[in-house]
Amino acid sequence: MRFAFISDIHANLEALDAVLGDIGKEAVDEIICLGDIVGYGSEPNECTELVRKNCTLVLLGNHDAAAVKLLDTHLFNNYARIAIDWTSRTLRKAHRTYLLGLPLTATTGPLTLVHATPYEPGMWYYITSLEEAAFNFHHFETEVCLVGHTHIPTIVVLDGKKEVYAHQAGHINLRDTPGAKYLINVGSVGQPRDRIIKSCYGIFDDATGEFYFRRVAYDIPATQARMRKAKLPEFLVTRLSEGR
Ligand code: ZN
Repeated sequence: MRFAFISDIHANLEALDAVLGDIGKEAVDEIICLGDIVGYGSEPNECTELVRKNCTLVLLGNHDAAAVKLLDTHLFNNYARIAIDWTSRTLRKAHRTYLLGLPLTATTGPLTLVHATPYEPGMWYYITSLEEAAFNFHHFETEVCLVGHTHIPTIVVLDGKKEVYAHQAGHINLRDTPGAKYLINVGSVGQPRDRIIKSCYGIFDDATGEFYFRRVAYDIPATQARMRKAKLPEFLVTRLSEGR
């Protein structure tokens, strides 16, 4: 089976459209979404609809949770909070009900799936260091755990000798290191923050063991025009053309 993993779409319709178009060329069997469909961007309804239509499994992200009042926004920064308030007002009832029903984690075959961290997924912690990754390896049983949340694509390996390191390339074959475990952040579709402005998502083939990232260009000025029209904070608009 070939899987595509998308995450952190953040109501960016141009980016989601471009990524779904690219996935269409990758001969994928299933698309899985790791959460944060909404928040920051101007098209929460359209994006929720597309994710519902295209994904076989969808997890809850912290912005999704906040938009449907499952999570208080007091820990969000000011821009994120303004965008969440706007999103809550804009989301249609059917989509709100759908987001309310999304799970925090799921396991399928060799994969654990979660938006933030396998340790206490409802606390929305971030994995930003090898130390935090090493800690989280103790909190899933499968060979691979896929996450989103930081918007930074990364592949962290726990090899047989219990050494934890970041894999330096954007592709890996899991069969190359027998007995290893992997913690993979699939990056962000709608708000990449690794200084690369293209959308990011991941492809995994469970037959060959191959995992790799895809980067996809999308119409950033069109997204920015929509966001300005919705009067979303200018900081959120400009960061898209800087990839941060
Ligand atoms: Zn996010």
